[in-house]
Amino acid sequence: MTDPEQSVSSNFIKAIIDEHNKNGRFQGRVHTRFPPEPNGYLHIGHAKSICLNFGLAEEYNGKCNLRFDDTNPVKEEQEYIDSIIEDIRWLGFDWQDRLFYASDYFEQMYAYAVQLIQAGKAYVDDLSAEEIRRYRGTLKEPGRESPYRQRSVEENLDLFRRMRKGEFADGAKVLRAKIDMHSPNLNMRDPVMYRILHAEHPRTADQWCIYPMYDWAHGLEDSIEGITHSICTLEFEDHRPLYDWFLDQLNVFHPQQIEFARLNLTYTVMSKRKLLRLVEEGYVSGWDDPRMPTISGLRRRGYTARAIRQFAERIGVAKSNSTVDFALLEHVLREVLNKQALRVMVVLKPLKVVITNYPQDKVEWLEAVNNPEDESAGTRKIPFSQVIYVERDDFREEAPRKWFRLAPDREVRLKHAYYITCREVIKNEQGEVVELRCTYDPESRGGWTKDGRKVKGTLHWVSAAHALKTEVRLYDHLFNKENPDEVEEGKDFTSNLNPDSLQVLSDSRAEPSLKEAKMDVSYQFLRQGYFCVDSKDSSPEHPVFNRTVTLRDSWARIERTLAK
Ligand code: ATP
Ligand code: MG
Repeated sequence: MTDPEQSVSSNFIKAIIDEHNKNGRFQGRVHTRFPPEPNGYLHIGHAKSICLNFGLAEEYNGKCNLRFDDTNPVKEEQEYIDSIIEDIRWLGFDWQDRLFYASDYFEQMYAYAVQLIQAGKAYVDDLSAEEIRRYRGTLKEPGRESPYRQRSVEENLDLFRRMRKGEFADGAKVLRAKIDMHSPNLNMRDPVMYRILHAEHPRTADQWCIYPMYDWAHGLEDSIEGITHSICTLEFEDHRPLYDWFLDQLNVFHPQQIEFARLNLTYTVMSKRKLLRLVEEGYVSGWDDPRMPTISGLRRRGYTARAIRQFAERIGVAKSNSTVDFALLEHVLREVLNKQALRVMVVLKPLKVVITNYPQDKVEWLEAVNNPEDESAGTRKIPFSQVIYVERDDFREEAPRKWFRLAPDREVRLKHAYYITCREVIKNEQGEVVELRCTYDPESRGGWTKDGRKVKGTLHWVSAAHALKTEVRLYDHLFNKENPDEVEEGKDFTSNLNPDSLQVLSDSRAEPSLKEAKMDVSYQFLRQGYFCVDSKDSSPEHPVFNRTVTLRDSWARIERTLAK
């Protein structure tokens, strides 16, 4: 694992842009794009790319396009297009009127292909996909030229036109660039530009039965849109000579491709193919399951756009691949939520407490601050009465000396209320503790005592009669291995799924102010973490809260170790 701090200051992409601005390559223009393929929902890795592309445009007073790279009709769907638009908007970025589709350029791309054929730089090949693979050679061996490589320009033009007309079956022919079968770079060994695919496209329907390959299409899309800096992930570094070759042959506007390291996170898979499997095979409830690394999943979990943007800022961009600790993402999230979350009291696993010396019908409304980090958040009133709930885990019948919570004869402070002392433990027939009888010190209201005696533990609680019954969902990592792709022989990443990644508590009790809980607001349940209303399953009759993240910050510990 690398220290992501290191990459923050050295944004090598800005250095390249600064250089271009100095030497006038793009007349000082900065125009980027985010080019998702609409074959799945966006994930946190895409967020890194979105923040980078839109962020650079903002910083250099430039522009950033949103472009759907919809060149493969088989896997692409409108649902994905809609979700991508929603997610980028939610992250807070704006492409204004520059929403584009690669499929809008199909006609232009076709014309460019004809131009290459006419220049003797492309040919129609009848070899099968398997034969093409065999002819390509390896890193050690040069490739062999296809027997169809020497077709005349006229024959190529005729065949390519007929490919478009639909005269040939899928896979019968392809259009290839005529470059160099001996190139040490395999991408330059006559790459395929077009394939035949009789498939319905979400936007162009059955208008086309030939579709451009990524390497051919992408540079053209960038060029047509006047993109100056085409930022992509590292695996395309070896494709850059091809990107440049196509644009040079056509002699059209030539953007600069720049590669950066993709984001990998521990305990997560990020490839859309794997995320799709999790959805389709029912390991999660959908693309927006709060355990998914998708933007919609993180949003439903309670992540804020600001937290994701700050995370992207914090990890920076680097030129070599690494894996970022999930704990860093959670650390940044806590920093953001700590400033804005409203503090409330919710007892996750309730244990009944009767305060025997408190008047039965009395209710006191005690004042509580909403956020000690933010005075403007104000205060609210919470009810206190004779019967309350405390956390079951805050009581132990046999407690060690340093147990600062409830136990027989031990005294604790109730947050915002009084000191109580446990006097009696009531059990059911099975011997389980079902109730505590306590007494309170009437003079200890607000956390003070007359004799100045010290009490170490402070517990959260709710008044039983006033509490809101609610479901609470607690989450853990979706995988129990840092690298879920590390598997035993014959198994796949699903064998590393964490069976305990979701825990549902159906009998939690919240203070009554949460009856008015709002979507998209973060709450800190005292001592339990940050929570939000579940945007899909929650209703006034059946409130559901998701735990966004616990309070324990394991990244802070890692940082301390790194500092040593
Ligand atoms: P996946 O591997 O998840 O399917 P992809 O690269 O096929 O991703 P695209 O829709 O083509 O998905 O990606 C759109 C943009 O997002 C591309 O520019 C790609 O480089 C970038 N991107 C994808 N995954 C990551 C990642 N993990 N980190 C940073 N950028 C990413
Ligand atoms: Mg891709």
